[in-house]
Amino acid sequence: MFFDAHSDIWSDVTNRRLRGETDILRRYHLPKLRKGGCEGSIFAFWTYAPYYRRTLDMMHCADLEIAECDEICIVHTYEELISAKRNSVFYVIKGVEGMAAIGDDPAGIDWYYDYGCRHGILTWNEENALAAGAVSGSSKGLTAAGKEVIRRMQQKGMVVDVSHLNEAGFYDIMDMTTAPVIASHSNAKAVCDVPRNLTDDQLRAIRDCGGVVGLNAFRKFVHPEDELQTVQQLTRHAAHIIDLIGIDHVGCGFDFCEFLEDENGDLPTERSNPYGLMDCSEVPNFFACLRDMGLSDNELDKIAYENFHRVLKQILR
Ligand SMILES: [Zn+2]
Repeated sequence: MFFDAHSDIWSDVTNRRLRGETDILRRYHLPKLRKGGCEGSIFAFWTYAPYYRRTLDMMHCADLEIAECDEICIVHTYEELISAKRNSVFYVIKGVEGMAAIGDDPAGIDWYYDYGCRHGILTWNEENALAAGAVSGSSKGLTAAGKEVIRRMQQKGMVVDVSHLNEAGFYDIMDMTTAPVIASHSNAKAVCDVPRNLTDDQLRAIRDCGGVVGLNAFRKFVHPEDELQTVQQLTRHAAHIIDLIGIDHVGCGFDFCEFLEDENGDLPTERSNPYGLMDCSEVPNFFACLRDMGLSDNELDKIAYENFHRVLKQILR
């Protein structure tokens, strides 16, 4: 079984519910998650403009879905997570991917927390009043409000995630953090040089704060060339990160998005994920490749869930 630190399934739940569908998790997602061996995940509220309206829609649709589906459990603490895992119930941590909805008001983090979110990324790819994304074109770091949000998140016991941030924002967080920080869905720039992947220095900084990097199966973050966008190539990212910062700082954050509509409501016209890892049901291929690379059962368990669990145990209370 493995833990997936990043999924956009709330987006699909929202889009379908807004069109009048119901029972989305059970009909479309839980079968694939179970087949792939996913035991639980961070489901992120990824929002686009109008941010506040979209966030309300997502929260509302997630609530309806949760009320309807007794096969998942929303968890807020590590104890709840472990109890769900023991009972083989699929557990979900609510997360935030992009906080543009709260503008420049740090108290907005209380709103997310009170709704049940225990994880957050300040920005998606945009520049907002808190920070700037890796592909925003801006090189500014965190704003005063962004720093205050990070402080409050850590006081409250929320997981701080640096995926999507530009380098200035990344290092601003590293300079102030009082807890392990994760990059839930980012690969190694040394293996595939795109803005959303992490430099070796960034990877070392995540190791130094006790954090974890989640390997991302989005094909363009795996390799620039189509035919090399394969599950084997993703294991090269794993190998690089393990060589550089050790086995204790690598996990899974697959970011499967074959179901993910864009801001215009259009589904991807081409495949989203690497050959051999086209959706969550194919994750066993990924672990088979890691095994072929020579990793032991203990090492595979660290990547599958133990490393992220270590961080969650330290933060979620
Ligand atoms: Zn993302």
